[in-house]
Amino acid sequence: MNNPLLQDWITPFKTPPFRLIKTAHFKPAIEDAIRSAKDEINTITGNPELPDFENTIAALDRIGERLGNITSILFNLNSAETNKELQEVTLAISPVLTRFSNDITLNKTLFSRVKAVYDSRDSGFLNNEQMMLLEKKYRNFILGGAGLGEEKKSRFREISEELSQHSVKFEENVLDDTNSFELHVTDEADLEGLPEGVIEMASMEAKARGKNGWVFTLHFPSYAPFMKYADKRDLREKMFKAYTSRAFHGDKLDNRELVKIIVSLRLELSNILGFNNFSEMILGDRMADTTAKVDKFLDELHSASKPAARRDFEAMKKFAIENGHKGELQRWDWDFYSEKLRKSRYDIDDEVMKPFFRLENLEKAIFDLASVLYGIKFIPNDQIPVYHPEVKTWEVHNSDGSFLAILYLDYFPRPGKNGGAWMTSYREQKSEPGREVRPLISIVANFTRPTETKPSLLSFNEVTTFLHEFGHALHGVLTRCTYESLSGTNVARDFVELPSQFMENFAYEREWLSKWAVHYRTGESIPDELIEKIRLSSTFNEGYACNRQLGFGFLDMAWHTITVQVNLEVSEFESDAMAKTELFPQVEGSNVSCSFSHIFGGGYASGYYGYKWAEVLDADAFKYFKETGIFNRETAASFRKNILEKGGTDKPMNLYKSFRGKEPTIDAFLERSGLIDPPSP
Ligand SMILES: [Zn+2]
Repeated sequence: MNNPLLQDWITPFKTPPFRLIKTAHFKPAIEDAIRSAKDEINTITGNPELPDFENTIAALDRIGERLGNITSILFNLNSAETNKELQEVTLAISPVLTRFSNDITLNKTLFSRVKAVYDSRDSGFLNNEQMMLLEKKYRNFILGGAGLGEEKKSRFREISEELSQHSVKFEENVLDDTNSFELHVTDEADLEGLPEGVIEMASMEAKARGKNGWVFTLHFPSYAPFMKYADKRDLREKMFKAYTSRAFHGDKLDNRELVKIIVSLRLELSNILGFNNFSEMILGDRMADTTAKVDKFLDELHSASKPAARRDFEAMKKFAIENGHKGELQRWDWDFYSEKLRKSRYDIDDEVMKPFFRLENLEKAIFDLASVLYGIKFIPNDQIPVYHPEVKTWEVHNSDGSFLAILYLDYFPRPGKNGGAWMTSYREQKSEPGREVRPLISIVANFTRPTETKPSLLSFNEVTTFLHEFGHALHGVLTRCTYESLSGTNVARDFVELPSQFMENFAYEREWLSKWAVHYRTGESIPDELIEKIRLSSTFNEGYACNRQLGFGFLDMAWHTITVQVNLEVSEFESDAMAKTELFPQVEGSNVSCSFSHIFGGGYASGYYGYKWAEVLDADAFKYFKETGIFNRETAASFRKNILEKGGTDKPMNLYKSFRGKEPTIDAFLERSGLIDPPSP
């Protein structure tokens, strides 16, 4: 047994010994770790003592520590530094892990112990954190069907399987229909307005399809710039109609039936589990924990932002007419005139900004910001094993010198790395009697690489991305909880983006930018005029955008709060739900639901409101900082103590109120987005 994954790691801070790990080690190590975890479960279920919080709930939270350590390495590597072999292992191991987690949820003896503890939860012996853990564990069992009798359980399983097949089919239909369309252009005049790079891409696409000329598709990198730049209005109309009628053509790829089947099955599933509707089931552990709260939130934001949406719309109409537009403004005109209006008002060019955003400067500035706010220190440590030579590692310490966490930073794109940026961890924090486990946190990104002549110079978007992921990382680094399932970023879905989006706010502050954003060659500070443009452009068309997103939120909630089967046609149901957010004339043959993958394919069902919810939260939190000074240590200390350290150990609203002194309101968000004028001083 020479498997490093199964041995104690004699590395600094017991970090994963990446240099010793071979792909072939994963499968046997995970199987072994699952066997150990099963033994741990048997110890809990075989305990002759009556079930109590410690011997059942806390014990359950501790099982599978080794399994967790190994699988996090596997999954993290598969995202950040993968290859064919590793992908195959990950694919092969996934069902094994699903089976193991089902074995836990469907273990009757285990569930009866959990339920016994849950039923006596009001005896007054549990603190907040323990209550949160108990509720979380119990909810997992309940939503997994553990509380059902045999007959209902078998129907529950049937529905779960059908639903996962339907979601896959839904996505397949959207993708196949996306792929079934192409706009083949052979006349060069039809390319007018399009940037060089977009035309080049279209010409490559045509070649790949064995055609001459240019091919545009409904995939985002082709579709989005086409709608933005193409002068030919009839072609934009054609593209738009193709895009918004995906899986809505009445052929075999049509998703209309599937939408209705999915929502009825979700309703039935939630009914079986004792809920009135699907939303009620999903929202149970969210910050907005009832459908009434979500509805109120969407309505409130809608009333407040509607005037700004109309204002944006009217301004665009006026601008379009001034620029020669005739007739009614249609949806396929929006992106086109938007881009022109944006350019005429702000004319921000990434290439002008990039020289001021050197990665090394930003990294130091972000570390300094965390030091100013929270008194923490970052010390490089190149003795910590890494999975790629480009990954850099840091020790994070408290101001008193005590150790907080290890931070891995992996900045640049590589062939084996997924796109985008994310924060993840190799080990989560927990505190056991006589043993404090500190976390191993990692940020993975795809920032602009340095070249032979230039250092890494970031776009503004990359700057906010770094701040965003660093906010998640701080949530992971500063956590001080007892139980792993509640520590760090293990919080409600509509609360988890607060620390990350909060950090993004600094990118718009002159006070912070002027500290570090200097031209990489001349050393000149970023001009005030440029900062002003960044600030102003961040509110451009926000009223329209907010209104549009609320429309999707209303639609999502409408589909998931039904309590009886839907008899209406999908289009009719959709129009009813979105009517109040419509500004454009209806387009015959267009439909949102049939290609709304977030809620019918992915995991955002009854969760789409969360995007705006999180923005409202982070704006409200940052406003508090602005009131007290954005580098105010006391405000920061409160944010740290009440939010960043607390993980999911209390209800999110309680945590937030402890920090802010009151519940959040939408005002700061409206102000920041330019939807209302700021109050006069
Ligand atoms: Zn995030």
